Amino acid sequence: MKQNESIGCTVEQCEHHAKDNNYCTLNKIEVGTHETNPTMPECTDCNSFKKCNH
Ligand code: SF4
Repeated sequence: MKQNESIGCTVEQCEHHAKDNNYCTLNKIEVGTHETNPTMPECTDCNSFKKCNH
């Protein structure tokens, strides 16, 4: 899988994670929030996350 060096990511449980390195392999991701008024990093989410099945 080709990693996208513009998208660093440490979520190894995601299907799109590069595994060997801390990068995402997608060309583009969608970031969103689950809060009404986000105030810190924890308020944001990667909406392109997909659970890894292996
Ligand atoms: S889709 Fe989101 S959570 Fe998954 S590897 Fe890419 S940046 Fe990380």
